[in-house]
Order: sequence, then C-alpha cells, then structure tokens
Amino acid sequence: MRIAFCEFKQWEAEFIQQQPEAAGWEMEFSEGTADELSEGAKASAEVLSCFIRSAIDGALLDQCPELKLIATRSAGSDHIDLAQCEARGITVCNVPQYGEKTVAEHTFGLILALSRNIYWAVDRMKRGDLSIEGLLGFDLYGKTLGVIGAGRIGLRVIRMGAAMSMRVLAYDMAPQSLLAEVMGFEYADLDQVLSEADVVSVHVPLLDSTRAMLNAETLALMKPTAVIVNTSRGSVIDSKALLDALNEGRLAGAALDVLAGEDVISEDRVLGQDISLEDLQLAVEAYQLMHHPKVLVTSHIGFYSREALDRILQTTVENVTGFGQGLPRNIVALRR
Ligand code: NAD
Repeated sequence: MRIAFCEFKQWEAEFIQQQPEAAGWEMEFSEGTADELSEGAKASAEVLSCFIRSAIDGALLDQCPELKLIATRSAGSDHIDLAQCEARGITVCNVPQYGEKTVAEHTFGLILALSRNIYWAVDRMKRGDLSIEGLLGFDLYGKTLGVIGAGRIGLRVIRMGAAMSMRVLAYDMAPQSLLAEVMGFEYADLDQVLSEADVVSVHVPLLDSTRAMLNAETLALMKPTAVIVNTSRGSVIDSKALLDALNEGRLAGAALDVLAGEDVISEDRVLGQDISLEDLQLAVEAYQLMHHPKVLVTSHIGFYSREALDRILQTTVENVTGFGQGLPRNIVALRR
C-alpha cells in the first residue's frame, strides 16, 4: 500500500517504521497539511493519514485519484468532507478512543485554572507581583458542573466532577439512565444545565446540530458568576456571543482549548489574499478571545500527551492494516 502521512513529526515516522505491520508499506511522510503534499504523493496515495489541520475537501480529493482510505489520527472528523468521500468510494476511519482520559484531564486542568485564577496568579508572580487582589477564586466543592455531551470525554469529566463533590447535570441527545444512576449524576435539558451550572464543560462533536449550540440565546441562560470550558470544537460556541457575554458581565470567564478560526490563524492565512470575509471574522474573534482578560486559551492540546499520541499511532496502524485485510475498523464513512 502507498501511504501518505501528513502533519507528521520525525519521531512519529520512526514509530510507524518500527511496526511489523508497516513492513510492506510504501510510505511518504510530511510535516505539512494534506494540501501541501507533493503532486506525486497525492497522485499515487492509496491511503492518506492526516490530522485535524488538513481540510479534506472535494478539490483535494480530485488530486488523489487512487485514494481508497483516509485514516485520520483524530477522534473528530469535521475536517473531512464525508459526503465527498462517500461519493468517491473512499473509506474514512478515525481513532475514537485514544484519549478520553487525556482530554478530560486537560479539561479539568482548565476548570481548576479558572476557578482558582491559576494562570493569572502565576503570571503576576513571574513579574514579581505578590498582590492577591482580583485573584479571589471559588471552591468547586458543592458547586454544579454542567456537562454538554456526555460521551466518552464528557463521562470522564463527570467522574472527575463527582470526585470533587460537585453536583453534576448532563445534557446529551442519547441519555443512558442506568449510567447516570451508577455514576451519580442527572440528565437535564440544555436550558436547565445552562441555567443551573456554575461550571459548564462542552464535549459534543461539531455537527450541524451542534454548530453554535452555545449562542446569544443559550449563553444568556447562564449565571453571571458561571464559567464555561470548551475542549470540543471551537465552532460549537458562537465566538461573538461569547465575547458579548464576557464583555457585558453576563459570564465570569471562559477556558478554551479550541477556537473557531484556529485553523485560519495557525495556517497564517489572516493576511492572505484569498481569505474569505467569514474566515477573517472568525480569526478576528479568535484573536479577541485569545487576548481577553477573562479568557484562558490553550492551543488545542487537549489530546497532546505522550501516552495518547502512542495510542493514536497504534490505532492508525491497526486501521490501515484492517482496511488492507478487508476488515475496516473505526469507520466514519464506508467505501461502497
Ligand atoms: P463521543 O462521540 O463519545 O461523545 C459525544 C457525545 O455528544 C455523545 O454522547 C452524543 O450523544 C452527544 N451529542 C452529539 N450530538 C449532540 C447534540 N446535538 N445534542 C446533544 N448531545 C449530542 O465523543 P468524545 O470522544 O467524547 O469527543 C467529543 C469531542 O471532543 C470530539 O468530537 C472532538 O471534537 C473533541 N475532541 C477534542 C480534543 C482536543 O484535543 N481538544 C481531542 C479529542 C476530541
């Protein structure tokens, strides 16, 4: 099999090369995104393995006539046009379970950083400023944690919240009542979760049904003392509505590992000739959030632990091997 790996570091290439399954693979590794692959790699690749910065659309797929499998090294697949893949008979598989613990741990790190102003306190100390005014935090003990999307990551966050003696409310389109009973949390509708929670943590995938789920109307339900944490996808929250809520004192703070427009910024397209007005708007709002005094941002590193990366690579090898043997696994879209 001819496989093009993009968004790939040297150590990752070495990991793959050491796997016995990869013995017969013809591999090309590249640090750039899928559209930056060489013409030759695009023309000949039967398998493309990418991460989330590669936008896989019809135009890119047109340049990859031999492509049969896209093995994304992520849980989310919103960077891939699945309808275009299905229309071309390309299977797409993902890594659904590499890091629910990893992302949940980062989420809780952000929750604690917000509740105790850890970033701002560290920042002051680094500047030799030992004052504590403005750094008054709040206990998580006894507060209400609202989890939006109680799937793999959300359920881990729920468990951590319960361990901190928080009351936990969860909103999910597919509630599992037995799980709630065993884990000691309650399901509620979105309005109730938002209006009662002191900390809201977002864990739904980015879908048509979840895009801007947190918007002017829904954010208005939150308490002015509440904080929101997002480690899912930036576009689940309407950035403008979030900025308005923070600026008008209707929300106490936010911690964001993901931002709508992060791809525009990370690809350095802001000053490009061909940037659309919509992307420019997203990038401007992302910059405003990054520099906002009530917002903590991390650079989409929820998944980024050594252990999680090893699991991602291992599952990707298994995905490619399974497909080669006619036994595709972790399917997001299936070749017909
Ligand atoms: P999951 O599929 O296990 O859980 C998602 C949950 O959301 C499910 O329980 C589902 O029923 C629910 N849901 C879906 N649509 C909904 C809707 N419209 N309304 C209410 N509930 C809805 O996914 P997961 O593994 O927990 O991951 C969640 C998301 O986290 C991923 O899709 C990805 O975007 C993001 N993620 C981010 C990072 C990071 O580095 N920050 C890493 C991994 C995953």
